Amino acid sequence: MATTHPHLPDWLAAYNPAEITIGVIASHSSLQILHGARQEGFRTLGICVGKDRKKMYKAFPGAEPDEWMILDNYLELLNKAEELRKRNVIIIPHGSLVEYLSPANFITLEVPTFGNRQILKWEGSRELQRQWLESGGCTMPKVIEDPHEINGPVIIKYAGAKGGRGYFIARNFRDFRRNVDLEEEFTIQEYVLGTRYYFQFFFDPIAEDGYQVEGMGSREGQNCGRLELMSIDRRDEANVDEFYKLGSLRDIRDMGLEPSFVVTGNTPAVLRESLLPEAFRLGEGAVAASLELEEDARGMIGPFCLETLVTDKLEFRVFEISARIVAGSNVAIGGSPYSNINEPGLSTGQRIARCIRKAIDKDCLSDILS
Ligand code: AMP
Repeated sequence: MATTHPHLPDWLAAYNPAEITIGVIASHSSLQILHGARQEGFRTLGICVGKDRKKMYKAFPGAEPDEWMILDNYLELLNKAEELRKRNVIIIPHGSLVEYLSPANFITLEVPTFGNRQILKWEGSRELQRQWLESGGCTMPKVIEDPHEINGPVIIKYAGAKGGRGYFIARNFRDFRRNVDLEEEFTIQEYVLGTRYYFQFFFDPIAEDGYQVEGMGSREGQNCGRLELMSIDRRDEANVDEFYKLGSLRDIRDMGLEPSFVVTGNTPAVLRESLLPEAFRLGEGAVAASLELEEDARGMIGPFCLETLVTDKLEFRVFEISARIVAGSNVAIGGSPYSNINEPGLSTGQRIARCIRKAIDKDCLSDILS
């Protein structure tokens, strides 16, 4: 895992710390990123394709960017790097940016970017994610290699599926065969019955107080940085969330319908408090393991999300990690029951800007950018 973009030190040397501008693609979690940047005293830049996107931000003056960059298509961003650097821009990546550019292009974007872009390699492959999370002590749903061995509910996930689109549930090989698209790459995972909680954590490697992540492996016994719980959400998924109203899975299939898992929104959640220590243990494990993924690894920096299920035995299964801000954090644009304890109204967007502000003050920006 290369540490940072090789030119990052040169880019930063040319930046004027007093004029740093927070840049974001106008989508996904941009409202809280822009609002939070403004609260921390930064100038802001919204980036979008076509002029139509701008109008919505008029409805939210607290998050309206100071400047806009209008593109003909998102790939044009790659050619705008020099201009963005002249404007002292730090890009805050989110899921839409990575999707619009593609992970391979995003890694080459020649603009200082919040967080560690190299972690994408580990996040982007289900096998590497499993290796990462299991080495951090997270239990994941079992994988079924041979579809003939399906003997209970499983969920089939396609490799390129976005937002749960195209996933399906099977109870046996017949179910699987009837629904599967063999042209696509897929994984068969044990379907874990339980309640879903999506934890939005923030890892600040330059903070020396608070809940410190203890290192493992080569960092055994070291305090590596502060872990914070910003918020918890649950995704609203169409149509699986509402399916029970139509009867059993068999009734539903008799009607020619299949449950789908398309994310349409999010609702805030709180966790049974006695389970919080375990949630922190999982978040801590994910961060500590990320620091050991490769020699010289910088690991997780900033916001990340653990997607979990809690069974009726009160056991967690982690089914995915997102190594950047997730849209579920939008449930806490004005703070969450957890972040409000520490600072009323603190969103993940503002927490990112705060981390950048602190790094400017400590003159260690390259520790949190790539
Ligand atoms: P993912 O793309 O992995 O985030 O999964 C999309 C949705 O599928 C989740 O939000 C859950 O509702 C559901 N899901 C994923 N994996 C499992 C699993 N192993 N067991 C039960 N539900 C799952």
